[in-house]
Amino acid sequence: MFNVRMEKECGCFKRSGMPSVKTFDNKDDALSEAGEWAEEMNETFCKKHNFAVIEEGNDLVITVAMN
Ligand SMILES: [Zn+2]
Repeated sequence: MFNVRMEKECGCFKRSGMPSVKTFDNKDDALSEAGEWAEEMNETFCKKHNFAVIEEGNDLVITVAMN
């Protein structure tokens, strides 16, 4: 099992109503979803936060940084 999860939930994320963890059976699916998810948030959120993907064991963690 591979999880894509948020490092922390910023205000924009909480308001979005998105789930904070998504689980996949294989790493390729998790990787492509993590990339698309981070891109979606970068495009649709406040633009003050920057989302990126890092690997942590079997997890892909979406990090949140201030621009
Ligand atoms: Zn934000």
